[in-house]
Amino acid sequence: MKFGKLLDSSSIILYEANMMFEIFFTRRYCMSHRLFNLKDSKCFVPHGHNEFVKVRLVSGGDDKLDGNGNMSNGFKSLKDTWHNWIDNSVDHSMQLSNKDPLLNYFKENEPENLKHILITPGDPTTEALAACFYAKINAFLSNEGIKMHCQQVEIEETPTNSVIFSGDPDRVISTAHYEGPLIPWWKRPDMSINDLEFAK
Ligand SMILES: [Zn+2]
Repeated sequence: MKFGKLLDSSSIILYEANMMFEIFFTRRYCMSHRLFNLKDSKCFVPHGHNEFVKVRLVSGGDDKLDGNGNMSNGFKSLKDTWHNWIDNSVDHSMQLSNKDPLLNYFKENEPENLKHILITPGDPTTEALAACFYAKINAFLSNEGIKMHCQQVEIEETPTNSVIFSGDPDRVISTAHYEGPLIPWWKRPDMSINDLEFAK
């Protein structure tokens, strides 16, 4: 189901005192999910949202422009990678807990759709998603040698409901019952949204 054109907006703020830019990207995607642990709730029924993800990047502090390209830290290249992942992996994905029995349905009946299932350790709440997105964009930044890091991810699930994450994703994502490789998908700088290829 299509919900309209993807929307892209971005902005840059310059703080003169310490010569530091902050860069924001916003991207829209459609998704579906269900919250398997909320059995008495509407969220137990698979359903969808049109969401916006806004990331805030900051640099290491030395942002002198070169007088030619005048672009901060490979801005375009980073944006391309992030938006490529959002548009081609996250958009129209189904987001499920690693413990959701719906995963077995797809494994047995529609294995071709497994690549479109984003799997989080436990229910795919907006909180879990924000922490995973935060780790993912920082993996892309580090892999591309860009001297910036993401300091905040905001996901707008509905016009009246948003979650903002900042901090250490390793401290909030609980992997105690998650079977996956040492470096799970949210920490790998690739287009993945699950770790099924590593499953036994
Ligand atoms: Zn929902």
